[in-house]
Amino acid sequence: MLQIRLASRPDGRPTPQNFDLDRGPLPQPGDGEMLVRVIWLSLDPYMRGRMSAAKSYADPVEIGDVMEGAAVGEVVTSKNPDFAEGDVVTGRFGWVSHAISDGTQVQKLDPAQAPVSTALGVLGMPGMTAWTGLNRIIGIKKGETVLISAATGAVGAVAGQIAKAQGCRVIGVAGGPEKCAYAEQELGYDVCLDHKAAQDGETLAKQIAEAAPDGIDGYFENVGGKTLMGVLPNMAVHGRIAICGMISWYNGANMDQTMPLPKAWSTILTNRLKVEGFLVPDHWQHYPEFVSEAAPMVQDGRIKYREDVTEGLENAPEAFIDMLEGGNFGKKLIRVGAD
Ligand code: NDP
Repeated sequence: MLQIRLASRPDGRPTPQNFDLDRGPLPQPGDGEMLVRVIWLSLDPYMRGRMSAAKSYADPVEIGDVMEGAAVGEVVTSKNPDFAEGDVVTGRFGWVSHAISDGTQVQKLDPAQAPVSTALGVLGMPGMTAWTGLNRIIGIKKGETVLISAATGAVGAVAGQIAKAQGCRVIGVAGGPEKCAYAEQELGYDVCLDHKAAQDGETLAKQIAEAAPDGIDGYFENVGGKTLMGVLPNMAVHGRIAICGMISWYNGANMDQTMPLPKAWSTILTNRLKVEGFLVPDHWQHYPEFVSEAAPMVQDGRIKYREDVTEGLENAPEAFIDMLEGGNFGKKLIRVGAD
């Protein structure tokens, strides 16, 4: 089996040397356990936080430990009465080709209902994050203008389509013309602005003002940096901001792309904005509600999704580093084993 461990903590941008590839014999399940062969590993931006020792909402991965992550796999051998050989399951198996599990926090998937990889993307944690940010944090209403950054990513693409389906005018911000064309033509964004083409936050602010002359009622914040600088002055009075992530700063880069705190603070006051950070695990009890709304929309094509697949677990470190800088186009997945 192959496992990828954290070898050292990154200083800024992670490098392949921060990861160790560790090959060993296949483990055998004990009583009450099962052996899972991993098919799909999800790569998510939060993993950058787990590589760092800095205080956060979750404990870091210790040096020498296997990298954390959600995955989908197939039960190969089971000594657990709740799971049978051939079951397709999802759980937090980590960056591994095979995992031993006692079934804790493992869910069975029905491959007839949706492609099983969607449990890691559009119908999994990222989709749930999009739904939560829009409905439970921003509280979008029909007719409002909503802006979504990282508009074509795992979270952003679902957020854009849900907001559109709920009757909002939806503006996306994404990196590059290809992603923007996809946002407008496939995902149904009314407009998508290319943050890479805008030299700074002020340029982006002017573009956003043109795209939303009456202001932004809801901002789904995924990136921070230049995009936040462009959005904040354009927030409508009584606008709401859901702080979901700030990926442009995760590697410690782009720290000059920021608005002075006094200016940001006074904008929040004068425009009477509501700004709320959220972590999707706190809202997980609403997952059934999300999935009952989103699954039919995925099935009938009202919510489209795109996956960006890298073959082979050994390539996960490079793929992860690339994703943190926008190299992915859609939900980032590693195909660890055959379907
Ligand atoms: P994505 O699939 O959106 O991939 C990351 C994207 O971030 C890249 O494709 C890129 O898109 C964008 N990006 C990277 N660097 C920059 C930059 N310097 N400036 C602007 N954009 C950048 O990832 P996810 O959908 O999985 O995650 C999106 C955000 O949601 C992240 O911030 C993540 O941490 C957060 N999140 C938060 C959760 C919570 O519970 N609060 C749960 C899940 C995710 P582009 O090329 O378009 O710029």
